Amino acid sequence: IYIVQNLINDSVLIEKRTNDIAIFYYFRQVSFIALLFVSLTAYKATSTVIETKEREPCYIIIALLIMLAIAFLSHNLSSYNTDVTIEITSLKADNKTVHWHIGYIYSLIIAWGTVLLYLAVKTKLHSILWKSIALLCCSAILTNVLLLSLDEYSMYIWYVSRGIEVISTLCIISILMYNTFIILKRETDSAIKDAMTKIYNRKLFYKALKSSLVKGAVCIMILDIDKFKRINDTYGHQEGDRVIKSIVDIVNKSIRDSDIFARIGGEEFGILIKCKDKAEVMFVAERIRKNVETETAVPNIYGLKEKMTISIGVYCSISDDYSADKVVSYADAALYEAKNSGRNKVVYYNS
Ligand code: GH3
Ligand code: MG
Ligand code: MG
Repeated sequence: IYIVQNLINDSVLIEKRTNDIAIFYYFRQVSFIALLFVSLTAYKATSTVIETKEREPCYIIIALLIMLAIAFLSHNLSSYNTDVTIEITSLKADNKTVHWHIGYIYSLIIAWGTVLLYLAVKTKLHSILWKSIALLCCSAILTNVLLLSLDEYSMYIWYVSRGIEVISTLCIISILMYNTFIILKRETDSAIKDAMTKIYNRKLFYKALKSSLVKGAVCIMILDIDKFKRINDTYGHQEGDRVIKSIVDIVNKSIRDSDIFARIGGEEFGILIKCKDKAEVMFVAERIRKNVETETAVPNIYGLKEKMTISIGVYCSISDDYSADKVVSYADAALYEAKNSGRNKVVYYNS
């Protein structure tokens, strides 16, 4: 901002301004390199020892201090402060062209190379994030190698290298944002979804039920796998889990995306469904029951060892039902009746 705001009046200023741009370029790269070193050090520490999670604020403070220190330093080394200065570029004898002191560029190339090496050793480049940072290092090295040919102040090379710097920075920002969204999605999913079946969990089911009840009448189904304990006892828990996942898949295919399907217990599920009346919800429930029965018949695409069946309790709330627990208990009572009257059945709650 300082350089842009001070207009060029004479040749001395042009020289100073060129040097200022070079100083800010140099220190921008230095701060990037320093921040990468800090983050790599933090990464190693936090991934090996859990207690060092507490050190995370320290790393952030160190990073901020480095940023501030470098900004302060480069600002004072520029023509803003006439007492201290460094010369990265200087005017040639002809007083027209600017000479670039390539020692600075070499130091950047060496520093970027070191970061790249450190990065490869520490992270083994195992995630897309580290790979993209390796790409950033490579493009920074390329940028600076290009600048080596700046024996005269060639605008063309300067702009090409600036272009590479901008594009690689944009790439990094995009990848960081992509990763952030992935992490956010994973966190939201783990809060509302069941890890094994990937459908909603009990908490979400009750929350959705409560908010639907406020809006008006709702229909719910409670599903329970018949004689499931026997599968565990005969073939082991792994087969039991496979049965649960297969039935979830069949039910998922039998309902609409807008219906809320949740695992509310070990082998118990709830469905919050949009239906206009009892007849419609009973029709859907019957379809689900039938699909489970036919699609698990041996041999089946899931490789299950036995045909499985489910029992379903159904209840549609009436306008003065406001309690989620009450609605679920009615559907549960219907399920209990389905179990008692022979299983593999759909029963509607009758008061
Ligand atoms: P019913 O027809 O009366 O429902 O008989 P059931 O054998 O299915 O009886 P119940 O509902 O009591 O059985 C539940 C069993 O489900 C008990 C528990 O060990 C098992 N179970 C619960 N969660 C899981 C799970 O995630 N994986 C496996 N493999 N088994 C589970
Ligand atoms: Mg059961
Ligand atoms: Mg059960």
